[in-house]
Amino acid sequence: RWEMRIGDAHDGAAGGRRIVHLVDQTGSYAAERMRVDFVANASHELRTPLASILGYIETLGEEAGDEKDLRERFLKIMFDEARRMQRLIEDLISLSRIEAEKYRLPDRAVDLAGLIDEVRGDILDAQGEDAVPILADLAADVPPVSGDSAQLSQVLYNLIGNAMKYGRKGAPVTIRLERLPTGMVRFAVSDEGDGIPAEHIPRLTERFYRVDTGRSRAAGGTGLGLSIVKHIVERHRGRLDIESIIGKGTTVAVMIPAHGSAVIKR
Ligand code: ADP
Repeated sequence: RWEMRIGDAHDGAAGGRRIVHLVDQTGSYAAERMRVDFVANASHELRTPLASILGYIETLGEEAGDEKDLRERFLKIMFDEARRMQRLIEDLISLSRIEAEKYRLPDRAVDLAGLIDEVRGDILDAQGEDAVPILADLAADVPPVSGDSAQLSQVLYNLIGNAMKYGRKGAPVTIRLERLPTGMVRFAVSDEGDGIPAEHIPRLTERFYRVDTGRSRAAGGTGLGLSIVKHIVERHRGRLDIESIIGKGTTVAVMIPAHGSAVIKR
């Protein structure tokens, strides 16, 4: 996409010669489009639950407010919708914080085995009946990574959360941690769910991209989880790999440089 700019030639020629500059604006138009789409999507995602809450408040103010059963059912729906808005706002805040820190390299030594144990314990404690088993297979020789532990635990929460949401009911979720010969540290979360059709995989880290919007919403998804993961992994100079086999399950792997190994001195 080209933008035309017209200016004076300033070369003293009689008649005021003018010059036409053609400036390539393809990159900035694409960025602006993405920003506009993002704001439109986020507003739409917030407007839907809000409209529902307002509708129920109105109905409660009328005759339905006198019936106890109906009142309780409506309050439950309003609570769920408000929670959905809250999760979305929290994810939007996370995304903008991560983006603001994009150019500040995380440099603390983080022990991923300890972090995985902590997050796994918290998730297991928070589950009630029908708890999903979460298995951990953590190699012993894994060096610390250069990282930001709050952000890395958010990666774990999002990946384990997805494996639980989209995994087969009752089947375990497995977390693996190992050191690679390249000096990178790899952790991966696997589930035994239905898997993801290959054509969707490259788009999963786009904001608000979902394979099945109804299923994601019903499970409490915001559509932002993997895009948050991608931004955090990029900030850690790492790599994200999504592998999925239809009918068998999905493995999402993150590779991050070990502490002290990432700075290439020239
Ligand atoms: P959501 O909040 O919708 O889960 P994410 O950004 O975390 O958003 O994931 C985007 C989409 O990728 C999901 O809506 C789902 O369709 C798909 N997805 C993510 N993880 C898995 C998984 N482990 N198994 C199957 N599908 C998945």
